[in-house]
Amino acid sequence: MKFHHQGYVSGDPRIQPAQGSGIDRPTDLPDRVDVLIVGAGPAGILAAAQLAQFPDIDTRIVERRCGRLEVGQADGIQPRSVETFQAFGFADRIVAEGCLIVETAFWKPDPQAPERIVRTSRVLEDPNGVSEFPHITVNQARVLDYFAEAMANAPTRMAPDWGLEFQDLQVADAGEYPVTVTLVHSGGPRKGQTRRVRARYVVGADGAHSRVRGAIGCTPSGDSSNHAWGVMDVLAVTDFPDIRVKCAIQSQQNGSILLIPREGGHMVRFYVDLGDVDPSARAAVRQTTVEQTIARAQKIMHPYTLDVREVAWYSVYEVGHRVCDRFDDVPAGHAGQRAPRVFIAGDASHTHSAKAGQGMNVSMQDGFNLGWKLAHVLQGRSPARLLSTYSTERQRIGQDIIAFDKRWASIMAKPPGEARDTSELEQGYLQITEFAQGFMTQYQPSMITGSAQHQALATGYPIGKRFRSARATRVADGAALQIGHEARADGRWRLYVFADAAPAGADSAVKTLADWLAHSPQSPVRGFTPAGLDANAWFELKLI
Ligand SMILES: Cc1cc2nc3c(=O)[nH]c(=O)nc-3n(C[C@H](O)[C@H](O)[C@H](O)COP(=O)(O)OP(=O)(O)OC[C@H]3O[C@@H](n4cnc5c(N)ncnc54)[C@H](O)[C@@H]3O)c2cc1C
Repeated sequence: MKFHHQGYVSGDPRIQPAQGSGIDRPTDLPDRVDVLIVGAGPAGILAAAQLAQFPDIDTRIVERRCGRLEVGQADGIQPRSVETFQAFGFADRIVAEGCLIVETAFWKPDPQAPERIVRTSRVLEDPNGVSEFPHITVNQARVLDYFAEAMANAPTRMAPDWGLEFQDLQVADAGEYPVTVTLVHSGGPRKGQTRRVRARYVVGADGAHSRVRGAIGCTPSGDSSNHAWGVMDVLAVTDFPDIRVKCAIQSQQNGSILLIPREGGHMVRFYVDLGDVDPSARAAVRQTTVEQTIARAQKIMHPYTLDVREVAWYSVYEVGHRVCDRFDDVPAGHAGQRAPRVFIAGDASHTHSAKAGQGMNVSMQDGFNLGWKLAHVLQGRSPARLLSTYSTERQRIGQDIIAFDKRWASIMAKPPGEARDTSELEQGYLQITEFAQGFMTQYQPSMITGSAQHQALATGYPIGKRFRSARATRVADGAALQIGHEARADGRWRLYVFADAAPAGADSAVKTLADWLAHSPQSPVRGFTPAGLDANAWFELKLI
């Protein structure tokens, strides 16, 4: 038994007491909700897990699948995503079940005998120690499971509403619940029946073929053609020495493979490059069989043998570089005139090549960016114009990812003889690792991001970038902790104060700051925290 902030907890302290909309939560979808999220993929489920922390907000997440994702789709988890998992309390568990990706090996045609591949180098994934968290691989289904658990343990006791498919929506000019959404039951005893739900806000996280996107008139622009991979999760017997290492393998004549070792220690994923897809011949590439993909992989890996004994999952994954010009329902030219009511996130708003493993990772960050903002506006902590920063911030990231992805894909696709020198691939890889790991996101000055005016006071923490963790010893008990790991996805603002060396009780800059925060009418803690709430409810102060 532990004594926690709210009292004795004799059970699992991760399970918070049910409150607000979590008490007697109706199993059936109500007619009115504060936020309706469409799609329980990485983008939607993260936004839902974040909103689930707020018992006074009624959020529902509808998903056309009739149950959890079981297998397949993305598998690469970048360190920035693991940082995010830490904020939801499950980083240690998912890392323990994932496969650690520490190095990437590059294989190319042997200059002496180009029909054979040889290893040219192995590079570290994070040579500069950008994060204390690792790059792991684990199936997307497990990521969704952990977020579903975080939702279920939250005060709102949220769970996805399975088997409901989005059809269309209308946004009224006024009213408390201006968005009317039409859904249809996609399974179960009510299959085919229509439902209408009214919402204050709608999040379209319904994937690359998003209908929410169409309903708000957003059009993705970019490449006209797609690129295709034969993707297979397999158990294989092989004499290839790097079968447990992430590899970029380029053959002379048969194309390339991205090889990803997977959780559990036995399974491996192959992305076998099937090339650009002519829009008029898409059906043909989709019919590529697993046997054809295996045969191609065997040729690429020559002289090593690849004997595939079992295929756990196979798909032809086809995707193009595309991004929408806005991620909400406010048309160009009207930005700033009204607050958005409908948003698109994840693959609904941007898609890019699987090679750089960004799809699931960036989609989760979209959901994270939007979730707390919706909560702040719905709770009256912020004006509705905060919601416009979502599109501004994330649309730019969508564009950057595509630029990054194209650069990486063109480096990867260069025939070996065309590279400026033999290490161009490795050099390119090192330059982009920080970006690929999710740490290059830097938001521009806005109502929530300050200008660089005071940057000189904290040069190691670029304004607009994620707060980088560091190890520090806790004064109270001497425990060595990561500062960043203390932050939870609870929507609070955080102040990190790096203390001076004044003796206890003596006047110091920290004492002056503490007095100001506690007593000054200008103090944000005093000025904004509603009377009657805990002093730490909206702001958390960390003294280091
Ligand atoms: C079949 C498939 C294979 C993939 N393979 C790979 C891969 O091998 N490697 C890789 O890196 N990435 C892969 N991806 C992409 C990767 O999974 C995505 O980038 C990532 O999941 C994006 O997350 P998201 O939440 O935006 O969208 P998604 O994960 O696509 O989630 C969208 C969710 O919305 C639901 N939905 C869709 N339409 C509706 C509707 N009208 N009403 C209600 N619910 C709806 C879907 O069922 C889905 O659960 C694959 C994606 C798919 C769909």
